[in-house]
Amino acid sequence: MTDTRAVRTRTRGGRVRRPVAAEPVRGDVVLPPTDGQRADALSADLEVALDLLKQAKDVVLVAHIHPDADALGSALALGLGLARCGKPVAVSFGEPSVIPESLRGLPGQHLVVPPDRVPANPDLLISLDVGSVERLGSLARLLDTCRQSLVIDHHPSNTRFGQFHLIDAKAEATVVLVAGLLDRLGIVIDRSIAENLYAGLATDTNHFRHANSAAHLLAARLIDAGVRPPELMHPISDSHPFGWLGMLSEVLGGAVLDRAAVGGSGLVYTVIDDAAKAGLRQEELDSVIDIMRTAQEASVAAVLKQTEGDSWQVSLRSRGPIDVAAAAAALGGGGHTRAAGFTHYGDPQLAVDALRDVLDS
Ligand code: 5GP
Ligand code: MN
Repeated sequence: MTDTRAVRTRTRGGRVRRPVAAEPVRGDVVLPPTDGQRADALSADLEVALDLLKQAKDVVLVAHIHPDADALGSALALGLGLARCGKPVAVSFGEPSVIPESLRGLPGQHLVVPPDRVPANPDLLISLDVGSVERLGSLARLLDTCRQSLVIDHHPSNTRFGQFHLIDAKAEATVVLVAGLLDRLGIVIDRSIAENLYAGLATDTNHFRHANSAAHLLAARLIDAGVRPPELMHPISDSHPFGWLGMLSEVLGGAVLDRAAVGGSGLVYTVIDDAAKAGLRQEELDSVIDIMRTAQEASVAAVLKQTEGDSWQVSLRSRGPIDVAAAAAALGGGGHTRAAGFTHYGDPQLAVDALRDVLDS
């Protein structure tokens, strides 16, 4: 049901008046949409998304490159649900060509096909947890060859690159949107689907530190459906090869604290180059930012990870009011207010300098 309460305003006479959505109030002033207007638009988008899912003859679900548990869990959960309705389903992501080892316990792996074997002309292409077209990697090509495309996401920086969109920046994780869709489609959330949803929810809320009560209630439902959190989450979040310890000691030992950066609230950063990461998985590299972010003297943490040759993937985290999504967007990336990233080409120190500049401006 649409909730219009927040967009109603009371006139002096006491009558309730509803402003027209997105109408400028004075000639040169455009007010941002209220929560009520956002809810209206979202519920309209939800109806469109449900219609697309019901009508689709076959579906390709795409997670972002180097998928995390929210991206792949969303694609697998929705894929398992749609497959159960008898629809041909394929799940994929642009790179790497194999499923990250830590996510191989998620149910529904049989739906995953490597990017070069994805059906070229799907009836419906759905991207999940993908904030911009670059995050589709090589599978961006499907946007031109599919019949229809639907973007399901929770990144505030989403560039709305599809034909239809279900984007809720207030959702804790993309899996929350998927759970809502499954419920509305009448698809029972069994243990297989629940495990995918739980993994995404736990990962994106930093293990429920940033979860609101609705997310906790969803988690309770998923546990009742059979999820066993310790067994499910151990390989995803708590398991690294011995070599990780050596890499951590080198990379954390090289961390730099710049107290003057970010208007004096501090930046801490470190670099993981090809030599430091040798033989380790992406999972080990991605874990470093969670340690860096604990530095008390810095409100922003950054980890620069060499990807190939001259190119670097930069992870950003912040505390308090600092918006790293805006900083990342200014540098060609995106993300969430307190967790974002961008890609840099060239000397990593120049990425740090550029970051310092945008965080100070
Ligand atoms: P992470 O540091 O965990 O890789 O990414 C943190 C957040 O920023 C995630 O929500 C991710 O989707 C987003 N993000 C990371 N790198 C990029 C990027 O290069 N471009 C965009 N648009 N988003 C990114
Ligand atoms: Mn997510």
